[in-house]
Amino acid sequence: MGVERLIFEPPAEKFLHVERTPVEATCPRCGSADVARYPVANYVGPRIVTKCQECFYHLSVDMPTADDHWPPWQSATLDWPSSRAG
Ligand SMILES: [Zn+2]
Repeated sequence: MGVERLIFEPPAEKFLHVERTPVEATCPRCGSADVARYPVANYVGPRIVTKCQECFYHLSVDMPTADDHWPPWQSATLDWPSSRAG
């Protein structure tokens, strides 16, 4: 884990948004090729979703990896091994 996950500059943009990365896939529900992968925060916590941008069908919902930098405010000790006491 690098220090870039712990120290942040104040945002320079007026509006903040997440980047939706296009994915080479076809939606099984509507057949659209407009599929994107991006971070979300929902009722089960932070996730990385791959969703159809036409009908919002979930192709996959994954746990974020360290490379995803999501959420950006994760604890510095998140990937430390826990003790027997938890
Ligand atoms: Zn679709």
